[in-house]
Amino acid sequence: MNIILFGPPGAGKGTQAKNLEEKLNNYQVSTGDMLRDEIKKDTEIGKKIINYMNEGKFVDDEIVNKIIKNVIFDPQKKDKLIFDGYPRTIEQAKNLDLWLSDSKQKIDFIFFLNVNKDTLIKRIEKRKILEKRSDDDLDTILKRFDTYMETTKPVLKYYSTKSNFKEIDGSLEIAEITSKILNILKV
Ligand code: AMP
Repeated sequence: MNIILFGPPGAGKGTQAKNLEEKLNNYQVSTGDMLRDEIKKDTEIGKKIINYMNEGKFVDDEIVNKIIKNVIFDPQKKDKLIFDGYPRTIEQAKNLDLWLSDSKQKIDFIFFLNVNKDTLIKRIEKRKILEKRSDDDLDTILKRFDTYMETTKPVLKYYSTKSNFKEIDGSLEIAEITSKILNILKV
């Protein structure tokens, strides 16, 4: 089963992806984690993207597509993907459709974790203390939220008409959200 977790920064996509990974024996595919890893390893890609990420801007589709392609075509991960923070642009969504079709896969469910801006800001400020992410300061949080509204909202529209699109109240407790998702997945 392949799943997309969709929602603004701080909606809890990463936390839910980890819970589902355990329950379903699937793989979390977080482009944010993969990109942070490139920065940590100081690769060519890492050097190119560090400023974008620190400013709360999106990394180019070309770079994101490059790092994600191998995961989609990895036979071990086939039909076991939990996308977290991807796709974030219409180009990425269309590209994903193409690669899924080429690898004989599909998206089974898209979960939209809907949370309002005030709750998101509070959550990210808390996460900043716990995870010490450099893009979690208030200015960058606001920038990331604006980027989400501008660029990711059309992706939401693209998916929201599909029959496997499910909206979940992302302001609920973590365990409650996981249980709602599992109920829908019937596992
Ligand atoms: P995240 O960990 O998902 O909140 O992502 C952190 C940052 O990584 C974002 O603010 C973007 O700069 C970058 N990023 C992560 N995923 C993507 C993506 N699919 N497309 C473009 N940029 C991304």
